Amino acid sequence: MSTTPRIAIVGAGLGGLVCARVLKQHGLPVTVFERETDPHSRSQGGTLDIHEDTGQVALRAAGLFDQFLALSRPESQEWRLYDRHATLIRHDQAVDGDLSRPEIDRGQLRTLLLDSLAPGTVRWGHSVRAVTPLPHGTARLHHHNDTVEDFDLVIGADGAWSRVRPALSDAPPSYAGVTMVETHFDDVDHRHPGIAHLVGPGTMSAKAGRRSLVMQRNSNGHVRAYITFRGPQDWHAGLDLADTEAVRARLLAQYQGWHESLLDVLRGNDGGFVNRPMFVLPVPHTWQRVPGITLLGDAAHLMPPAGVGANLALLDGAELAQAVIGRPTIDEALDAYESAMLPRAVDNAKTAQQMLATLMPDSDSDDAAFPDTLWPTSTLPDSRRAHIS
Ligand SMILES: Cc1cc2nc3c(=O)[nH]c(=O)nc-3n(C[C@H](O)[C@H](O)[C@H](O)COP(=O)(O)OP(=O)(O)OC[C@H]3O[C@@H](n4cnc5c(N)ncnc54)[C@H](O)[C@@H]3O)c2cc1C
Repeated sequence: MSTTPRIAIVGAGLGGLVCARVLKQHGLPVTVFERETDPHSRSQGGTLDIHEDTGQVALRAAGLFDQFLALSRPESQEWRLYDRHATLIRHDQAVDGDLSRPEIDRGQLRTLLLDSLAPGTVRWGHSVRAVTPLPHGTARLHHHNDTVEDFDLVIGADGAWSRVRPALSDAPPSYAGVTMVETHFDDVDHRHPGIAHLVGPGTMSAKAGRRSLVMQRNSNGHVRAYITFRGPQDWHAGLDLADTEAVRARLLAQYQGWHESLLDVLRGNDGGFVNRPMFVLPVPHTWQRVPGITLLGDAAHLMPPAGVGANLALLDGAELAQAVIGRPTIDEALDAYESAMLPRAVDNAKTAQQMLATLMPDSDSDDAAFPDTLWPTSTLPDSRRAHIS
């Protein structure tokens, strides 16, 4: 590029941060606008398995792979599947040395990325209201305080409810028919041995018909649980979601007949319940290219959580940065980036949709099985996993 492009990234999630890191490594200045007021203003959520063909590729491009590995938990690749009677029906253990999908706390990964950026790169407390295209292929960013700033490239990395997306597409996210209610347990090995036994070092899922319970071990004995069910978005009608006991009673009524040890997930949690209805973008979600504006991660392809969203956001971020670095113009960079990212997103969103339909059927059948192709570790070669059925 003949002059240094002015680049703005909206959103300091994983995708936006890795993009900023790769651009900066190659000497391109960039500003990240983030609506949160500081890095600690919100708990960043649970654990993520970072895949060798997507998220790990991005972390290598960012020069952060070794630091990621040092923080990650390969032993947490273990999966356990139970039926609603708490019978263990499948158990995959990670083989020693298997680094195909090690887990890491999302907060640790975000901190790693943030610490890799020069101070001042992220402008905290800057909520972006909208982005509009300008003549000559540039874009105008509208800040929350009604000021504006112009850039050669604005990257929407602002997640599910992106304020950048409307510049490219009028597709709104819609409710996927499934809700996750999140809760957590602390110091499980000492304070919640029953939960520790069910979850083991990794992830457990118990499933019957339209309901499931999923738990994941994070670092420091912390476990996140996701009470997941197909049902209307207003399943909590008439309840105050801050009234933990009322929410608990409503949830327990849904899980009648489940084994006592599994019901402890609903009865023994520390803290309250967080309602997380699942929203998705239509599939396919694509757009006609608009000069100077693009999207990555959930802003581009919000899909059911099938274990790939964060991985794709990381890969998008790294690839977009590499396209900007390697092409003579922003236009050519966006051509290269979007022509690879959009079809990849469509393929992954279709798989995630099928997975959701299969795992969360609209029926009360007792079937707990995961089809083998949907089993989380099924993409690993046999030599890299151990089965104990
Ligand atoms: C319960 C759950 C479990 C999941 N588990 C996994 C998993 O195991 N593996 C996996 O790969 N994926 C998982 N996902 C999906 C994953 O969380 C997302 O796909 C991923 O976080 C998307 O990253 P992102 O960078 O695109 O957006 P986000 O992580 O959503 O980051 C967006 C950022 O933009 C900021 N922002 C938003 N609006 C504005 C604005 N107007 N102005 C400025 N800043 C703004 C936000 O504050 C945020 O910091 C899970 C999702 C859920 C809900």
